[in-house]
Amino acid sequence: MRVLALLDGTLADPDSPQIRVEDLGLIRGDGVFETILVVDGKPRELTPHLDRLDRSAAMLDMQPPPRAEFERAVELVIGNWTGGEEFALKLVYTRGVEGGDGTPTGFALGMEIGAKVLKQRVEGLSAVTLDRGIDADLADRAPWLLLGAKSLSYAVNMAALREAERRGAAEVVFTTSDGSVLEGPTSTLILVRGKTLVTPPSKLGILPGTTQYALFRAAERAGWTVLVEPIQTGELYDAEGVFLASSVRKITRVTVLDGKQLPDSSALLTELQDLYESEY
Ligand code: PLP
Repeated sequence: MRVLALLDGTLADPDSPQIRVEDLGLIRGDGVFETILVVDGKPRELTPHLDRLDRSAAMLDMQPPPRAEFERAVELVIGNWTGGEEFALKLVYTRGVEGGDGTPTGFALGMEIGAKVLKQRVEGLSAVTLDRGIDADLADRAPWLLLGAKSLSYAVNMAALREAERRGAAEVVFTTSDGSVLEGPTSTLILVRGKTLVTPPSKLGILPGTTQYALFRAAERAGWTVLVEPIQTGELYDAEGVFLASSVRKITRVTVLDGKQLPDSSALLTELQDLYESEY
């Protein structure tokens, strides 16, 4: 089941061609996107997602995404969804057609959540650390690298996942060249140490996660300490729990890292999932 809405307020057939072959989003990955979780007809963290779409577009020097049109497209997809109670809603915004009049392309697409993600939510997953080839200051020093923008250029992220698979794992934890933890290719890393949640800072050139933020909000209210600070790879092995969070996967525990079994964090997972769900 899929539902496609365009920015002019119309629905379109996702099985028919909609994008021009010269679209810069297609031929250069030149554009931005968001993926939002919809549960029981309600989009989670819609404003933070739209704010992040704005920030990503600004980093790419694109025109600001038209918020009212995107909100209308979101409503249209949700209103026409007849599939499962949870689905993924993708917002895409590209620089438009090469040599065209500069009008961006945008759409909202509702999609079912894959069985693999649903299984990982329950069972957890194995991950490997992979060097992202950046250092801690690169994002500030080289803004043209668009570190921390949710751009459509995710080929590197997808290649990293294939490398993980070659190494017998399902996921990746990117690190800086000097061993500081960054994020997953499509997720935020969260570590649990006692009654403290820790995630690496976005100034390292990673995406500030809406799911991580929602969890930290709930956790802080429930008396946890929440820290946004650098994490060294070695610390992952000493933690009571290592989790990957994203809108669609929610909070997933890492059970094995670089072939080493991590402590059983299933009770912690339930606690964090309950905290996260208490936000909605
Ligand atoms: N980091 C990256 C690189 C991502 O692509 C994503 C989401 O897909 C996240 C983190 C998690 O963000 P969110 O929780 O807002 O989905």
